[in-house]
Amino acid sequence: MANDLAGVRLEINGIVQGVGFRPFIYQLANHHGLKGEVANTTSGVSLLLEGPLDSIKRFIDQLPEKKPPLAHIVEISQSARTARGYETFSIVKSKAATSKSTLISPDVMVCEDCLMEMRDPKDRRFGYPFINCTNCGPRYTIIGDIPYDRPKTSMRKFTLCPLCQAEYDDPENRRFHAQPNACPVCGPHVSLCDGRGSPIETIDPIAETAKRIKQGRIVAVKGLGGFHLAVDAANEEAVKRLRQRKHREEKPFALMCKDMDHVKKIAQANTAEKGLLTSIQRPIVLLRKREPSPIAEDVSPRNRYFGVMLPYTPLHHLLLDHEFAALVMTSANLSEEPIAIDNNEAFQRLTDIADDFLVHNRDILLRSDDSIVRHSAGQMRPIRRSRGYVPIPVFLADDLPPVLACGAELKSTICLTRGKQAFVSQHIGDLENLATDAFFRLTVNHLKRILDIEPEMIACDLHPDYMSTRYAQEQTEVPRTAVQHHHAHIAACMAENKSKGPVIGLAFDGTGLGPDNTIWGGEVLVTDYHAFTRAAHLSVTPMPGSASAIKEPWRMAVSHLKKIFGDSFQCRSLPFLDTLDRPQVEHLGKMIDKNINCPETSSLGRLFDAVASMIGLRNRVAFEGQAAMELEMIVDDAESGRYDFSWKDGNTREIVTDPIVAGVVHDLENGVSAAVVSARFHNTLICLFDKLCCDLRKSTGIGRVAMSGGVFQNHRLLTGLGEALQKSGFDVIAHRLVPTNDGGISLGQAVVAAKKLTMGLLE
Ligand code: ZN
Ligand code: ZN
Ligand code: FE
Repeated sequence: MANDLAGVRLEINGIVQGVGFRPFIYQLANHHGLKGEVANTTSGVSLLLEGPLDSIKRFIDQLPEKKPPLAHIVEISQSARTARGYETFSIVKSKAATSKSTLISPDVMVCEDCLMEMRDPKDRRFGYPFINCTNCGPRYTIIGDIPYDRPKTSMRKFTLCPLCQAEYDDPENRRFHAQPNACPVCGPHVSLCDGRGSPIETIDPIAETAKRIKQGRIVAVKGLGGFHLAVDAANEEAVKRLRQRKHREEKPFALMCKDMDHVKKIAQANTAEKGLLTSIQRPIVLLRKREPSPIAEDVSPRNRYFGVMLPYTPLHHLLLDHEFAALVMTSANLSEEPIAIDNNEAFQRLTDIADDFLVHNRDILLRSDDSIVRHSAGQMRPIRRSRGYVPIPVFLADDLPPVLACGAELKSTICLTRGKQAFVSQHIGDLENLATDAFFRLTVNHLKRILDIEPEMIACDLHPDYMSTRYAQEQTEVPRTAVQHHHAHIAACMAENKSKGPVIGLAFDGTGLGPDNTIWGGEVLVTDYHAFTRAAHLSVTPMPGSASAIKEPWRMAVSHLKKIFGDSFQCRSLPFLDTLDRPQVEHLGKMIDKNINCPETSSLGRLFDAVASMIGLRNRVAFEGQAAMELEMIVDDAESGRYDFSWKDGNTREIVTDPIVAGVVHDLENGVSAAVVSARFHNTLICLFDKLCCDLRKSTGIGRVAMSGGVFQNHRLLTGLGEALQKSGFDVIAHRLVPTNDGGISLGQAVVAAKKLTMGLLE
């Protein structure tokens, strides 16, 4: 039998430390009757296995599928070893040689085992809101530095009691080396405070919080990555008050439901959506509303969708045990400021919003908003990538030098690269105020530290006035390169799909500066990582009032009408014209004639705005993309008609928008419904870009299309255009890992800059 005895050494890289990986290996080895040992190394985990070759093979086969939920295996390398004759399998108590290149786990929802203990009256952690184990709990948000050990986390101020310490030290315990391990004796606690931050006397702060929410009060609840504002979602008056106090007019509020049964009462969820809701990342999932429902109208006004999530911390579970149809759980901030994380900061910043505060004494070291996803065109599509997903890297096809990419301006993220890994940060927010600026800088420094990456180059947007660009300009010790916005969008899409160039890139969004100093946003680019050419774009239209035209879509509507009909557009019988202020329209006409503050744009997002306004959806928006979103919401799915389109040939084709807009006007003047006009507009774009890509394939031979940019959050366009292109024989790629909006820009900047650096193409 001796010739049956084989020896193998496995090196496993990825997220394999601090996630219960060694106890798992120990159990799996024993299960297969294998001997040997396992230890942490500087880059992951190393193990020696001895036993029959068949058993070793089965062990290796089962490794990826049976791994602990938080583990993420990137690479397993295998080499043969002469068997040494181990008699047992053991965990070598290396003093956690945690390397700086070891991956850090994201924060993950509380696991079933912990929930069962929490609900067991005989368990020492009965009703304890901070229960966790190696398979669950906080990670990313409590890490201050590496290596990932308790003294480097915000758990350092809690000394483990003997019982918790014994669990922590026992390789066979499911809390072995669980850094946030805690219990009611030694761990963090919750307390309830009034609107000014003074403690409220109560024996059960969570039950008292639930009672107050039921009374219609707004309670700021400290969670994993920041504070939420919690309100009873069925209470019209309370939801209205939250909107007023938060200065958030119409953006939908996220909901948290106790379980899937509660979700189904307010929204529709298919199997894929249910899978997303119950995944360990526990994102907010966009779901079609069920109507009627007990949820207040103001939660998500003029929208067919709710953003819904399930509880992910023990504290959420305890709170939702108090029977709510759903809770509004919205980030605790004033509009567009970063989410509050510190108790005193929360008392100060939220004093005018929250009636009460449910706080705890475990510090949040890095804020992280809830992630938002949607199931669209057969895939999960991230809209905001934060808690649960970050800091798992995007794995790339090629090794890259270390680069810091600073992102764009709205929905900002940053990206750091290391080898084949690109670390895209959590959602930072819109870089338009000092608070977000500070959070941006903090995130850059924090991530450089915990990922141990010293960038050799900095990438930023072409736009000189973005705060992120200015930050990049301040960093004078390494070379800097500016990456065009839409090139970055397409490169991000290529990178996450591990796609080689060149591709035909459809980059559709609201705003991005072009090298010709006009505002781009309806771009067809032939793209490689290091360079691109502009193969086609929408014809340009003045944006009267510049940034004001983004907030007031009626300005884009008037601009298009004037371009087509001249000043006689005012005589058209379009109902929306009657909703406008005539002197303002006159003034706008003069601005366009004299070219005062009227930058030209080829943006598709602005064309959506113009059409939405003409249809009569809205003349002003409370957030970017709102009008376009509402245009999608009203689509008549049964309509298959479309408008005329054409383009002017040349090296850079110009897609003429006038026939499309004229078609919309003609329909509206003839009383065609808004739902049909919206459908025809969408159908036109799908047909147009399908035909254009076919035309480009003839001249370039490129058969792959990458779709990126914020406009592709539009489900109708993403699905319709994707299907049309596939039918035409294209290989189509879109985003699945990072957002298609500007949250994905930093990834694209990073790969473009890195490619230029390695190819010696820097100016
Ligand atoms: Zn657990
Ligand atoms: Zn304890
Ligand atoms: Fe963009």
